[in-house]
Amino acid sequence: MFDKKIRMMVGPTEIPQRVLQAMNRQVISHRSKEYSEMHGRVVEGMKKLFRTDGEIIILTTSGTGTMESVIQNCFSANDKVVVPVVGNFSKRYGDIAEAYGLEVVRVEFEPGETADVEKVMAVVDADTKGVLLVHNESSTGIFNDLEAFGKALKDTDTLLITDSVSGTGGLDVEMDNWGVDVVLTGSQKALMAPPGLGFVALSDKAWKHIEEATLPKYFFDYKRMRDFNKKNQTPWTVAIHTMFAVDEALNMVFEEGLEEIYIRHNNNAKMIRDGVKKLGLELFAKDENFASPTLTTVYAPGKAKAIVKALGENGVIVGGGLAPFDEDTLRIGTMGYISENDVAATLYALEKSLKQL
Ligand SMILES: *Cc1c(COP(=O)(O)O)cnc(C)c1O
Repeated sequence: MFDKKIRMMVGPTEIPQRVLQAMNRQVISHRSKEYSEMHGRVVEGMKKLFRTDGEIIILTTSGTGTMESVIQNCFSANDKVVVPVVGNFSKRYGDIAEAYGLEVVRVEFEPGETADVEKVMAVVDADTKGVLLVHNESSTGIFNDLEAFGKALKDTDTLLITDSVSGTGGLDVEMDNWGVDVVLTGSQKALMAPPGLGFVALSDKAWKHIEEATLPKYFFDYKRMRDFNKKNQTPWTVAIHTMFAVDEALNMVFEEGLEEIYIRHNNNAKMIRDGVKKLGLELFAKDENFASPTLTTVYAPGKAKAIVKALGENGVIVGGGLAPFDEDTLRIGTMGYISENDVAATLYALEKSLKQL
């Protein structure tokens, strides 16, 4: 069977050969000098990627674990947080906060809409400890205007926390310039590495909240991690092979250049959107100005699962839709290691698949 695949995945994503090769080696101790040097490089790389001088915490967990760790470290029981809900991942953030006994105020938007700053700010008051904003909503394929939220919250005591698991590495984050207090991401999306690591960047304002927060934590204790960061180590065993991978993936990122990467992601996603529309399908994003550069959610009512299957048989792996739109949407990833040629091949396979159906 001929099984060459093009992986237009929404996480985990395709891993470049260079990154795979970097992992094909013997393990090292997380207390060795070699590890510390790598830890220091990865921290510096993540600072450049998030455009921050803030502390970088490295966690061995998935994106969701990283989201949870932020709640544990930044808040106390009954704290009020506001969650703009634009899809499954922003909904998840509200659910995690609720599981920890926070008072969660949800501001709901129509599926496919981006979060409107004014509507959200209307429920933010002096008691609001944080706004939990998804940077790039991986279910509906939209991104939120992080810069506008940063501006709105700049002179308040409210933390702006953003889940950029599917944004960082494909979509600009200017943490310090935009006044974002916490940015979190994972290794397995636009970062081109396997699953296993979470990264959190923290502003000084975030550290003030961390000093006061009383929710229980142990494995994910940021203060302990900050102490270990001084020696370029983590308190516990880290996913060392995923670190090898991220170390090499960051080399690739800076060899290509951040601006170039963002342009490539924008161009690839635009090409997917234009191609999808030309083939008579609709975009799920309501406003194309906020359509995600890292994935495109395609609206194909009742037909989405058949299209995903046919694309798979034609050699292109895409993501299925997420409930409640699992029958009606599919998601084409352009995050990470995706070229214009991959996009062209995907559109070719999509045309062929639609004809076959
Ligand atoms: C993938 C993703 C997550 C969850 O990551 P896991 O590694 O599956 O836990 C969280 N938020 C967003 C926006 C994501 O795209």
